[in-house]
Amino acid sequence: MEIRDHVAVHDYCTRPQIRQELRPVSNATLDHWRKRATRSALDAWTSEFYKSSYQSNSNFLKLCKEDGQFLEPKYANGGTWLPHLSDTRSTSRAVRAILKHTPIGEYRLRFHPKSTESPICGCGRVVETRYHIFQNCPLYKEAPSIVRSERRVPRDLETLKRFLDANPAAFAFKTNVIDAG
Ligand SMILES: [Zn+2]
Repeated sequence: MEIRDHVAVHDYCTRPQIRQELRPVSNATLDHWRKRATRSALDAWTSEFYKSSYQSNSNFLKLCKEDGQFLEPKYANGGTWLPHLSDTRSTSRAVRAILKHTPIGEYRLRFHPKSTESPICGCGRVVETRYHIFQNCPLYKEAPSIVRSERRVPRDLETLKRFLDANPAAFAFKTNVIDAG
C-alpha cells in the first residue's frame, strides 16, 4: 500500500470530521494492494541484493539454484536458505560460512587485526580462509559423492550441506565441536 493510501486510511480512522471527504480512488481490493506492496518490496530487496556493498563485497557466498541462477532473497515459507537447512548447529555453521562471519583466521584478520591469535590455518600452510577450507585444506575432507578433483567452493546449498556434514568442525566454534562429540 502506498504511503498516501496509508495516510488516508489513518486519517479516516482517527479524524471523524474528515470521513465525508474520503473518496475511493481505486476499485482494487486490499489483497491487491498487499500483493503490490509485497512485490515492490521484493523487487527492491532483490535489486539491493546484487549490490556488492549489500553483500559485503566478496564476503557473501553466492549460491545457485539447479538452473544455475543465483538464489535470491525471499521471505515466504521460511525464506531462501533456512528451509533447506536442518538442525540448529549445522544451520549456524552454514550461515557463518555464507556470511564469512565465522571463527577462522580470515575473520580474525578482518575484525580483530590486533589479536595475538594466529590467523594461520591449523594445517600450517596459509591463512585460514573460507576458500582454503573449502578448496584444499587437508584438515577437511571432501563431501561424500564428490571426487577429489571436484573439491571446490560450494556453488549450491546441497553441496554446502554435504561439506558441513562431512566436516563437523568446519565453521564451528571449538567448544561447540567438543560439546557435539
Ligand atoms: Zn588448512
